[in-house]
Amino acid sequence: AKQDGRSIYRFFTPEMQARSGRHMELVNALRYALDREQLHVVYQPQISLNSGRVIGTEALLRWTHPELGTVSPAEFIPVAEETGLILSIGEWVLRTAAIQTQAWHEHGWTDLSVAVNLSAIQFRHTDLPGTVSQILRESHLDAPFLELELTEGVAMIDPLGAIAVMNDLHDRGVRMSIDDFGTGYSSLSYLKKFKVSKLKIDQSFVRDIHSDPEDKAIVSAVISMAKSLGLQTIAEGVETAEQLLFLREQFCDEVQGYHFARPLTASQFEQFMNDWQT
Ligand code: C2E
Ligand code: CA
Ligand code: CA
Ligand code: CA
Repeated sequence: AKQDGRSIYRFFTPEMQARSGRHMELVNALRYALDREQLHVVYQPQISLNSGRVIGTEALLRWTHPELGTVSPAEFIPVAEETGLILSIGEWVLRTAAIQTQAWHEHGWTDLSVAVNLSAIQFRHTDLPGTVSQILRESHLDAPFLELELTEGVAMIDPLGAIAVMNDLHDRGVRMSIDDFGTGYSSLSYLKKFKVSKLKIDQSFVRDIHSDPEDKAIVSAVISMAKSLGLQTIAEGVETAEQLLFLREQFCDEVQGYHFARPLTASQFEQFMNDWQT
């Protein structure tokens, strides 16, 4: 019995208990996060290297809980996915981002598009194209100003199903991009079948551009491959002038990162736009 007791402790260490306690806490708290208005969306500017203009934002989710404090999306998105809460949360992000972007259009910033991250769960388990169309109707945002950021994972379980959904969204005028490009696997063979318009070069490749010749080679190869396939490119995680210079030299289309701005609240973004233009 003693032996058993020990092995139980071995398999369930205090650390693991703490971790699962935290996990349960997140599961329970996340259920109420939306209703209790603890979630909000921040917007990170995306800049065209060709025109120097701010041509869009990426909508990023934030969660502030009264006791847990700020919980990072890297921690709570997986919880939202395993509980299915990502369906209602994801729809709320889409609606919030569409309404906000339409308001900016009406303010006169008519170039702005908005990129919304989509979980593979949302892609598989709902009538996504129908939901997206309804949100566009409600918000009066024109479809081409909505961009969905998908990861290579959306096609992993059911490639044909994923392609059908992409075709449907594409036919409705919504644009799609592949997020974290280069970090997943097998995307190359699907690239020509995917109705995506943009590749988003992962920040892990951008980070060490100046010091790592291999990352440099990968970034430049992705850009030239994208060009020959007729796809746009955006680099994320651009933090330094050196990275920016290299991306410019490679004719990357767009950039996003702390070098320009962190993800901003709607009113901070408005301030950023006013400063950018003058
Ligand atoms: P992601 O889609 O790859 O988003 C980029 C992440 O990089 C964001 O982290 C952003 O704040 C951060 N970032 C932007 N510029 C820089 C930079 O110059 N340097 C560095 N080091 N980081 C930068 P965040 O907001 O913490 O989001 C993390 C991940 O959570 C996202 O990665 C995305 O996968 C997920 N996520 C965020 N919001 C949503 C959402 O609404 N729905 C879904 N499904 N996932 C989301
Ligand atoms: Ca993203
Ligand atoms: Ca990314
Ligand atoms: Ca990521």
